[in-house]
Amino acid sequence: MFGGTFNPPHLGHMAAARACVEQLSLDRLLLMPAAIPPHKVLPEGSATASQRLEMCRIAARYIPHCQASGLELEREGPSYTCETVELLAEQYPGDELWLVIGTDMVLSFAHWREPEKILSHCSLAVVARDEGDRERIAQTAQTLRDTLGAQVDIIRAPALPASSTQVRGGEKGELLHPAVAEYVRQNRLYLPTLDALREAVRLRMKEKRYLHTLGCEKLAAEMARKYGADEYTVRAAAILHDCTKALSPKEQLTLAEKWNIIFDYTEEDFVQLIHADTGAETAKRIFLMPDDVCDAIRTHTVGGPGPMTTAQKILYVADLCEETRSYPGVEDMRALALTDLEEAFTAGLKRTADFVTQQGKTPYHVTTDMLKERISEKEENTMAELTPKELMEEIVRIADSKKAKDIVVMKVDDKTTLTDYFVIMTGTSSTHIRALGDEIEEQLKKRLDILPHHREGVTSSWVLVDYTSVVVNIFQQEAREMYALERLWGDGTKIDITNLMKEE
Ligand code: ATP
Repeated sequence: MFGGTFNPPHLGHMAAARACVEQLSLDRLLLMPAAIPPHKVLPEGSATASQRLEMCRIAARYIPHCQASGLELEREGPSYTCETVELLAEQYPGDELWLVIGTDMVLSFAHWREPEKILSHCSLAVVARDEGDRERIAQTAQTLRDTLGAQVDIIRAPALPASSTQVRGGEKGELLHPAVAEYVRQNRLYLPTLDALREAVRLRMKEKRYLHTLGCEKLAAEMARKYGADEYTVRAAAILHDCTKALSPKEQLTLAEKWNIIFDYTEEDFVQLIHADTGAETAKRIFLMPDDVCDAIRTHTVGGPGPMTTAQKILYVADLCEETRSYPGVEDMRALALTDLEEAFTAGLKRTADFVTQQGKTPYHVTTDMLKERISEKEENTMAELTPKELMEEIVRIADSKKAKDIVVMKVDDKTTLTDYFVIMTGTSSTHIRALGDEIEEQLKKRLDILPHHREGVTSSWVLVDYTSVVVNIFQQEAREMYALERLWGDGTKIDITNLMKEE
């Protein structure tokens, strides 16, 4: 019999059980959770008795000759071992019985209720919890032999130091058998406090990232209250979302290999995405976080694949616009985050895709797929009445009438899934570029009831108006030269638009 609280059963228990079965050639080992343990008070947030029994059942599957027993759960009051071994002796008459105990228990054994009675029914198998315990165990065993006539065997297997307290402390998933860990996660057992999570990530990152993490948690919590998501879930996800970001790409890949994480992107092209996968897996395997937390972490960089829960959308948006983020338009994004989650999520996807595209790279397809999916019905319907080409032509005419200089149109639908046309033009001053943006917006709204999907003053010398199938970039001269979009997208895609311009 191997009794204990098993709150939860960990690898130390399992190694001890295996060693006893082997060394004592046991026919059967009973893992027996105590109902009310006489030696300890169960801490708050403990698993219930039936959950502890269930976890013992799971653990027992991976130990030869082992099975879980609910014998002590069937009795009222504290689970005294003297009563349990008496029952076992009746149940298995003539059999040789052993009681398995670890260091802490053998040291206090003489003070248990009726130790003589226990020893009249069984021998003791003592397992060291730590290699350093061996001397004390040997001395105590000798005393028990001398004073109580105990039959004591000390198990020789290497000690595996682990305790249920460590597991409950929050960061010790690797001390559990994966099957037990999965039960813990599925049942949301031993959820670590948010303070414990913050402390764990603080040690894993530089101060700047930690402040971003706290900013993200703060905004995510506010959004959770507003949109009715579980606050612990979004806070925990926000705290852990960048928990592996400080690792080098090589370390990330080592983790991915260890945990069998399969990417559907090439690591070289999307190295900045890996931390979302390794972060989610760390949350799962080390912090034993439930699926809703891990899913939010997994999708926080790319915004998919869907369907996305409210918690997932919240983390995605909060990460983009929490209080330490600064880029043109961040205030608008923050305001949107707290007024319309759906719009904010779409705007976030769009911003990410644009940002990547403007760097001359291809955005990850999950982001662009999600974005396309989300473009509203209304917008799609309105746009459907006008082909992208017709819309582009309309924009060119409006820009020309407002004295835009050097209008260039590039057809990019074969280079990106984000848009069909880039319209690029120059304005003579910051007032002129804003006026051009306003005129295009106003005219298209008034005449065709088309609203841009998104507009921003990227810098004071660059205004971007995005109609999804047509993206308008209005620059001052120096900015146009500096960003050199035309060169970036290749001159071969230029469209001849002279027929659209008014004659001088
Ligand atoms: P907690 O941390 O909640 O006090 P625990 O890890 O000590 O729990 P228990 O369920 O109380 O685990 O232990 C049941 C039995 O298993 C005891 O006899 C204990 O000495 C023994 N035991 C616990 N951990 C180990 C270990 N790592 N190696 C060997 N024996 C162990």
